Amino acid sequence: MYTYCSYNIPKRILVTGGAGFIGSHLCERLLDDGHDVICLDNFFTGTKKNIQHLLGLPRFEMIRHDITQPVLLEVDWIFNLACPASPIHYQYNPVKTIKVNVLGTLNILGLAKRVRARVFQASTSEVYGDPELHPQTEDYWGNVNPIGKRSCYDEGKRVAETLFFDYMRQNKVDIKVARIFNTYGPRMQPDDGRVVSNFIVQALAGNPVTIYGDGSQTRSFTYIDDMIEAVIRFMDHEVNTGVKPDDYTSPVLSGFPGPLNLGNPDETSIADIARTIIDLTGSSSVIIHEKLPEDDPRQRCPDISLAENTLNWHPVTKLDTGLMKTVQYFQKGIA
Ligand code: NAD
Ligand code: UDP
Repeated sequence: MYTYCSYNIPKRILVTGGAGFIGSHLCERLLDDGHDVICLDNFFTGTKKNIQHLLGLPRFEMIRHDITQPVLLEVDWIFNLACPASPIHYQYNPVKTIKVNVLGTLNILGLAKRVRARVFQASTSEVYGDPELHPQTEDYWGNVNPIGKRSCYDEGKRVAETLFFDYMRQNKVDIKVARIFNTYGPRMQPDDGRVVSNFIVQALAGNPVTIYGDGSQTRSFTYIDDMIEAVIRFMDHEVNTGVKPDDYTSPVLSGFPGPLNLGNPDETSIADIARTIIDLTGSSSVIIHEKLPEDDPRQRCPDISLAENTLNWHPVTKLDTGLMKTVQYFQKGIA
């Protein structure tokens, strides 16, 4: 395999949304592995606290910028993570969420085209909407409401995928599109309304744990370390095209562009998650039921055979272990 742009060769890497939950873990791992990292963020949902320990490191730079405005930088690789990810955050200003996914994606792809950088898109299981196929494979086109409250995110991420594939076909941009399923771990925002952070914060405070609906809806949860490993393996994945590095004119041939499901095939009901978190925290919280939000998907579970075969990857962190580490993170924040 030719390794002209392999992960082992130090690179200058841009991480948009680098001060967020997933982005901050990614910046940390890239620095640990010897790369120069430019973290770009407008701090809409990310915080300086997430990257405080990285500020001052010689190979780390932070830029406050909004990706809906053009970005001019010289980089080898780009991870495009900038976008509010939790329902309450992406529904706060839905028009802005669409702008991030359309204008922001155009700016990032324009940058990748100009500097011939490989570019990763953090797409989402939400592109499957409320899926009629179970578990979801990458060739499933989804069941998405185009005019609902979640549409700004779901359709925004779908059009971002379209832009990635059009830039690949039209401009030979070297793309990697991952469909990330629910991910959890330390540095989730306590107020982001997502189920794991909500339940942990509620249980630690002894407040009622709020299950929306009857709790029979399912999700599959991936611990952050497993997700970061998959993201890096995918970005680094190349195939032997028989083209020598010097003759490299078609980066499209450098590897599998996706879309690729990244997640955990272990499916859990929301009611089970609530009980597990109450047990792990030793909380006396009671469970209460509230109204199910509009267009809340009933079931979500990835088929990850493609990722397993392509990346030789499988999530290894057990749900209890990952939840315990997340509980400990929130406990420290409260103490
Ligand atoms: P997050 O909200 O913690 O991080 C998103 C980051 O993007 C934040 O730091 C935010 O300030 C920044 N941002 C938002 N709009 C921006 C803009 N216009 N310009 C610059 N920065 C901007 O969310 P996360 O969970 O870390 O998600 C990261 C990415 O992964 C998102 O694109 C999300 O859609 C995707 N994703 C996450 C999950 C998950 O379970 N966490 C699942 C599927 C997909
Ligand atoms: N959920 C819940 N109680 C909460 C927060 C979320 O029952 O306090 C449910 C929510 O309705 C959904 C699931 O948990 O069915 C996952 O929600 P989250 O917002 O974490 O992720 P998404 O719906 O985007 O997968």
